Amino acid sequence: MERISWHQYFMAQTHLIALRSTCERLTVGATIVRDKRIIAGGYNGSVSGSAHCIDVGCYVIENHCVRTVHAEMNAVLQCAKFGVPTDGAEIYVTHFPCLQCTKSIIQAGIKKVYYAKDYKNNPYAIELYEEAGVETQKIPLDDDALQLVHRLE
Ligand SMILES: [Zn+2]
Ligand SMILES: [Zn+2]
Repeated sequence: MERISWHQYFMAQTHLIALRSTCERLTVGATIVRDKRIIAGGYNGSVSGSAHCIDVGCYVIENHCVRTVHAEMNAVLQCAKFGVPTDGAEIYVTHFPCLQCTKSIIQAGIKKVYYAKDYKNNPYAIELYEEAGVETQKIPLDDDALQLVHRLE
């Protein structure tokens, strides 16, 4: 049996999580990994218990939906909520993180960001990653990895 690579394993997981997004403007997923173990996951969604964009529409201010907590933030906050250290961890994301998420990722002590797709790659975010010594690497989700999932049937 062919084994899926670590990168594709975490990236596939990240895309699976993205499918739970409740804001249709962007379907985003994030997975925080430490020592090859998944410690948290997040998707674009409303504050717990609040209305979802898919039910009541987006709350758009200045061309941004302000209703949602971004996937990366949800993953980091899940660690905060349950007391899981993020220092030295890695994060897999479906899209290059926005500036706000970038600042939180760096501040949480995350050392590597793996993203599947470019998304408006904010120049200041790129500068902050470099300054903080946080490595960013593009790892697209591989169709071959998904074929392995189908072969399980
Ligand atoms: Zn929305
Ligand atoms: Zn963000």
